[in-house]
Amino acid sequence: MLIVRKYGGTSVADVQNIISAASNIAKTYSDGNRLVIVVSAQGDTTDELLAKAAKISGGAGKREIDALISTGEQQSAALMAIALRAQGLPSVSLNAAQSGINATSAYGNARIKSVDPERLRFELEQGNTAVVAGFQGMNKYGDVVTIGRGGSDTTAVALAVALNADLCEICTDVDGVYTADPRIVKNARKIRVISYDEMLELSSLGAKVLHNRSAEMAKRYRVPLIVRSSFSDAEGTLVKDVPYMERMYVSGVTVDKEIAGVTLLGVKGEPGGAYNVFSLIAREGVSVGVITRTAGTGSGDISFTVVRSELGKVLGALEENKDVIRYTDLKYDDRVAKISVVGAGMESTPGVASGVFEALYAVDIGVKMISTSEIKITILVDERDTEAAVNAIHDRFFAMGAHDEEKR
Ligand code: ASP
Ligand code: MG
Repeated sequence: MLIVRKYGGTSVADVQNIISAASNIAKTYSDGNRLVIVVSAQGDTTDELLAKAAKISGGAGKREIDALISTGEQQSAALMAIALRAQGLPSVSLNAAQSGINATSAYGNARIKSVDPERLRFELEQGNTAVVAGFQGMNKYGDVVTIGRGGSDTTAVALAVALNADLCEICTDVDGVYTADPRIVKNARKIRVISYDEMLELSSLGAKVLHNRSAEMAKRYRVPLIVRSSFSDAEGTLVKDVPYMERMYVSGVTVDKEIAGVTLLGVKGEPGGAYNVFSLIAREGVSVGVITRTAGTGSGDISFTVVRSELGKVLGALEENKDVIRYTDLKYDDRVAKISVVGAGMESTPGVASGVFEALYAVDIGVKMISTSEIKITILVDERDTEAAVNAIHDRFFAMGAHDEEKR
């Protein structure tokens, strides 16, 4: 098999970790596989480099920041290649340009445009294990650009696509994707197999195991993906096309605590009322989460959520433009948490929504806002109720027997 395997920052945090990852790689190699390794920067290196730059200047400029922070991954790549060679495995480290990773020019948040796999193929043919610096690409000016925090996962999937690899493994500090965050929900279980759609929802909703652009790309190109621990042989979670999706309607419950809710009371019901509100917020560069609109006679309320750190900006803009938007009152709540229940085929399975409400009712927790889509139900609760709410919902759907993974 040709495997692209990525090691996250914790997995290469110190010399000992690198050496033990290298011996795992050597073992996979001697089992008859060819490997391309993608590495993240060691531990908190990226943050430390950013902090150093900030100490010198608050206006370092995105180009120099990218030149700086991309070195974290390059260090890891060279160290890993050194560790592999020390174990007798022929290996070369490659940066983004050498690996043929072409990206857009957006310093700090570039997108991978294409990968020219010639050099990688050549190294593999030579019998080398290539170790590629994650998180970066080369733009049309020949500059190194980074592709967004946590982007090494996306590098790995992009290389797997370009090389038509048999498998992309994401080796990290958790041993797979769970039905809920095990730190919050003690009954959380590891998901053995999950569909691309569900994985995509879980990662964009803050399950934080995978960079969500990597899940997106894996889905688009149908790359079989495994999320597993770097430190153990535990089986991990396989992300792929799941043919019997309808058998299982809930795959996980996620939480996002960094949310604030805003309600505009008495917004005029005339055409364009909602447009005025949301175009204003869009101009502030803030994206909106859950939206609900209650229509009264002639006027109604509009509620929506934003990321908590953007609340001040949004309130300022709304107050400044009160004469355009014409609402009677503005209320906000910066102590809300967003809980989402994710599952493919939920739409065609009756009773999921009522199950969520029943679970919350049983523990006496009120719901502030609700929105549903084909694949998820999102509710807002008081932040203080988060743990109780997630556990109640999780146990409602994942109590023994209700969720039979073996059937998948
Ligand atoms: N080192 C980068 C970060 O910390 C990229 C990554 O870890 O994937 O965001
Ligand atoms: Mg990192």
